[in-house]
Amino acid sequence: MWQAEIRVDLDAIRHNVGLLRAGTTAEVMAVVKADGYGHGMVPVARAALDAGATWLGACTLDEALALRAAGITAPVLAWLLVPGLPLHRGVEAGVDLSASGTGLLAELVEAARVAGRPARVHLKIDTGLNRGGAKPADWLALVEAAAKAQADGWVEVVGAWSHFARADEPGDPSIDRQLAAFREGLATAARFGLSPRYRHLANSAATLTRPDSHFDLVRPGIATYGLSPVAGQRFGLRPAMTVRARVLLAKRVAAGEGVSYGHTYTTGAQTTLAVVPLGYGDGVPRHASNSGPVWLAGRRRTIAGRVCMDQIVLDCGDDPVAAGDVAVLFGPGDEGEPTADDWAAAVGTINYEIVTRMSTVRVPRVYAGG
Ligand SMILES: *Cc1c(COP(=O)(O)O)cnc(C)c1O
Repeated sequence: MWQAEIRVDLDAIRHNVGLLRAGTTAEVMAVVKADGYGHGMVPVARAALDAGATWLGACTLDEALALRAAGITAPVLAWLLVPGLPLHRGVEAGVDLSASGTGLLAELVEAARVAGRPARVHLKIDTGLNRGGAKPADWLALVEAAAKAQADGWVEVVGAWSHFARADEPGDPSIDRQLAAFREGLATAARFGLSPRYRHLANSAATLTRPDSHFDLVRPGIATYGLSPVAGQRFGLRPAMTVRARVLLAKRVAAGEGVSYGHTYTTGAQTTLAVVPLGYGDGVPRHASNSGPVWLAGRRRTIAGRVCMDQIVLDCGDDPVAAGDVAVLFGPGDEGEPTADDWAAAVGTINYEIVTRMSTVRVPRVYAGG
């Protein structure tokens, strides 16, 4: 018997990876950062590899090392690296590491010395996101230093890469500008004798909408989990996460009663209130107070009053609701239950945040589909 659970459908993960593979001739890197967008990094990684992804995307060195510790031997790229990390551990573990500047490249050379083997490096160019990556003006120095380090045997330049700012807005002119800047960066690298085996740029949105951005490798994250990066388009993806809990108490209350902290909701008539044991301590946004949709007893309802740390309340009218009934916060939507997209719309965020913020501190994550 379970009280509340985060259910992850690994068959859906495999379906989504299969769909992404079918749409490209490039290899697929399943991005499993942030505990697999809240779905569980290692089980998702295994399912994605099973379905034909050949790379895994981790953000941090620790995430990449955790994949290795789990026995996963597929190529892994880690790209969020502050100065001073024990990068030799990544090199020893065969983790590919990203460099956005000559400082990190020098650290990778040192890490290679310590590890006694060359560091596998992906050089990152900033083509317009203005987040990570070398600006075009600094790219030349990075490429030059990398070519030298490769000639000296300390690094192997495996990749050259960048990241889109607005690929989720198909047709936005920044997409073409970033593509052009990327091609220019590759041409500069080629002038220094660098033609990396893996050129990569596409996130989920570009993987689904811009085949001309695929190059040798695509890096879908959100689409792996079955959620769309583009508003209003589903692409045949299957959402993998369902969050649900059992009603712990159902009771009749009179009209005109204030509900939950602050009494921000008042019953309009005599009604049945259902209390559900999930709250902001479990990752339910407090912004969902009086707006979050929940499926219970065959209908969508809206959270009545404030989301508490541990609980929410639903106003069920005269519908027959009893303790033990299952309330679904979000799922694939097949049975009428809300989706992560519905939650994102209700609280003013994106589907990425809704799934990633769900916490397993109290709520077990359970896997379906092997
Ligand atoms: C998170 C991330 C991705 C995946 O992005 P989605 O929009 O989830 O597909 C790809 N590349 C980088 C660098 C990222 O940080």
